[in-house]
Amino acid sequence: MAQRLVLVVNCGSSSIKFALRREGSSAALLSGLAEQLESPKAILHWHTTDGKQSQALSPGGHADAMASLLPLIDEYADQPLSAVGHRVVHGGEHFTGAALINPEVIAAIEANAPLAPLHNPANLIGIRAAQAVLPQIPHVAIFDTAFHQSMPPYAYRYALPDELYAVHGVRRYGFHGTSHQYVTQQAALLRGWPATQGAWLSAHLGNGCSNCAVLDGSSLDTSMGLTPLEGLVMGTRSGDVDPNLHAHLGRTLGWDLPRIERLLNRESGLLGLSGLSNDMRELEQARKDGHDGAKLAIEVFCYRLARSLAGLAVALPRLDGLIFTGGIGENSALTRALTLKHLGILGLQVDPDANSNLPRGEAGNIEAAGSTTILVIPTDEERQIAEESLHLLDASN
Ligand code: AMP
Repeated sequence: MAQRLVLVVNCGSSSIKFALRREGSSAALLSGLAEQLESPKAILHWHTTDGKQSQALSPGGHADAMASLLPLIDEYADQPLSAVGHRVVHGGEHFTGAALINPEVIAAIEANAPLAPLHNPANLIGIRAAQAVLPQIPHVAIFDTAFHQSMPPYAYRYALPDELYAVHGVRRYGFHGTSHQYVTQQAALLRGWPATQGAWLSAHLGNGCSNCAVLDGSSLDTSMGLTPLEGLVMGTRSGDVDPNLHAHLGRTLGWDLPRIERLLNRESGLLGLSGLSNDMRELEQARKDGHDGAKLAIEVFCYRLARSLAGLAVALPRLDGLIFTGGIGENSALTRALTLKHLGILGLQVDPDANSNLPRGEAGNIEAAGSTTILVIPTDEERQIAEESLHLLDASN
């Protein structure tokens, strides 16, 4: 029997990212993006072996986008779908793994919405729209937070009064779990080990960035916290700042909370530091051209990344390897080199040629002789969502 097919759906407030994946395959049969939804400019883009195509969506809501997907799925699927896998950002403490979507699961995702007010409601819109057009297929929720539910309390608790945790759920949750899980499994497989073996540090560096310490398939600590703002310098997010910054800005500049949230989430990070861009490619070019802000932004990004990795290393009994992934981790040899300059303390030494010459889109080793393993591994969150969805179905049959 041909390997099963899964439709992977990642729904935002004005967009739906989708991919039709075949079990065990690293390529999508069909992938694309419906964007500017709920507006007159709504449009559907898709990509297959036949090339790229687009189609205006009218009237252009999430439900219209899902309905427009059906004929495409019919065209490119050689068998009925086995599952629809939905990315859901926040599973709180309720979800420690994938969940077959039913009314209780929907209620629990809703209950977690205060922890992710921009994301969970949008994810639910996608679930409902997909269920409406594919009612006979099992729908599975895969949570960004679930992989980190194995963190011990000393890693996930803030030093705040207990009531804030016990009553209000204020704790560190972590995100990017699907990516950290996928690349650490791939790292183990590359070493010839079972997928859940090894003591790894993984650095997911995209527009959002986080590090994770993984031991034998379990997350022991990660750099993001209650929200995805904690931890590393990111494209437009500040990462860690002094928590008293809020009070300071309120007192000295009269800024209210929405203004401060905008500052920390949208105007900071690489963009804020450089005064130029949140895009690492542009910053690398500007640095070459002598732009001081770009140079500083990249230096701060790399130093803070290294500092976080060194801190997370204490979660592990030993280090079998460091993995770089995400758009920056996979493609920026400069970022990897500048970060690794600070990480000799962990026995990590980069081979400059291997680092610079790694073919785009491929996994590979970049450590020097005698160094602890350093890997670049392209992440594939959609594949992980597809495989986990099927896994759950197999386990529940
Ligand atoms: P992601 O969110 O994983 O798509 O990653 C987006 C980030 O990856 C942006 O900052 C891009 O500039 C960065 N990126 C993608 N390709 C490259 C490249 N060749 N060199 C440096 N940065 C890159």
